[in-house]
Amino acid sequence: MNRRHRIYEGKAKILYEGPEPGTYIQFFKDDATAFNAKKHEVIDGKGVLNNRISEYIFTQLARIGIPTHFIKRVNMREQLIKAVDMVPLEVVVRNIAAGSLSKRLGIEEGTPLPQSIIEFYYKKDKLDDPMVSEEHITAFGWATPAELEDIMQLSIRINDFLTGLFVGVGIELVDFKMEFGRLWEGDVMHIVLADEISPDSSRLWDINTKEKMDKDRFRRDMGGLIEAYQEVAKRLGIMNENEQPRPNGPVLVK
Ligand code: UDP
Repeated sequence: MNRRHRIYEGKAKILYEGPEPGTYIQFFKDDATAFNAKKHEVIDGKGVLNNRISEYIFTQLARIGIPTHFIKRVNMREQLIKAVDMVPLEVVVRNIAAGSLSKRLGIEEGTPLPQSIIEFYYKKDKLDDPMVSEEHITAFGWATPAELEDIMQLSIRINDFLTGLFVGVGIELVDFKMEFGRLWEGDVMHIVLADEISPDSSRLWDINTKEKMDKDRFRRDMGGLIEAYQEVAKRLGIMNENEQPRPNGPVLVK
């Protein structure tokens, strides 16, 4: 068998060498992990849904001029992406209090925040991804001040756009996590959105019922994860592999 060269295996994805220099294949696994992989399960079909949802989101973001690593989806579980030099940060944007923010600051889950808040976490499993400040990031050279400025500006644009996109299909974007990379084009480097944006890396609540449609269903042993991710995909107008594309795109929820 002709084995592909594996560049990196993470908790929910594998990166393989791509067909051309400067490209990778990003493979979405069915593995679900939480609490720094202390909790682990394989959930049949999760990878396929995240691949589709993330493809859709990255494609829509590209349409408003957000630079991303995404090139195209190649099959049910894989995307062709541009190889980038990852910035070792998880960038979280929050609109409504939930999760670690609620716990740390004692703010009840579901409380709207007075303004969108950006947080940074240093990507280091051994340290449980500690929260860090802009000062730590620039002092330790994880990103330059100019790169950090780009990351923050992109994060706000992405949050504004995705908040609207999800409201249109009856979903609240409570919070989400992004990762960025450096892409070299000739002598010029710019920051691009990388990794994925999916219900694995965001909190999505039904606007009316507040039902959770994201990975908290797994973290909190609520069940129904696949059904919830399918509902997100359905509302976004993403068809299944064998279905005809919807002629009308996203479903407007009144
Ligand atoms: N998140 C993520 N990966 C992580 C940590 C957080 O994708 O390693 C996402 C998470 O799904 C949520 C947001 O970032 O949408 C904020 O997570 P939070 O800090 O509340 O941490 P959690 O409660 O998930 O531990």
